[in-house]
Amino acid sequence: MTENETNNEEEWKEKLTEEQYRVLRLKGTEKPFTGKHWNNKEKGIYYCAGCGTPLFHSKSKFKSGSGWPSFSAPITDSNINETPDNSLSMRRTEVLCSKCGGHLGHVFDDGPKPTGLRYCMNSISLDFKPNNKED
Ligand code: FE
Repeated sequence: MTENETNNEEEWKEKLTEEQYRVLRLKGTEKPFTGKHWNNKEKGIYYCAGCGTPLFHSKSKFKSGSGWPSFSAPITDSNINETPDNSLSMRRTEVLCSKCGGHLGHVFDDGPKPTGLRYCMNSISLDFKPNNKED
């Protein structure tokens, strides 16, 4: 087990900001157009804000108009988990970090080709590190 996998909820509360905790651990959603990444066009990598796992390349980011950072595919399928979410009377697919179990957002099937997927993420669940060589 890694250090991240042994974090209990008290440790998460210490490690994360209140809003990060609300989204990552309590499956909250940030208000659209308020996060730090939805309009970011820089090249680089988006990492899990909970544990640092690389999740998305900037090259898979696209303008969705939703107000949340949106991607057509993860860096690698093994770094995320997807699970049915029927809360709020909606049928959605929740996306979680596969390493720490943090809630990232949801994936929808109305994305651009070739994947047709729209990974609709919370900015606050992601840490961005610019890297001009990534694209
Ligand atoms: Fe994580």
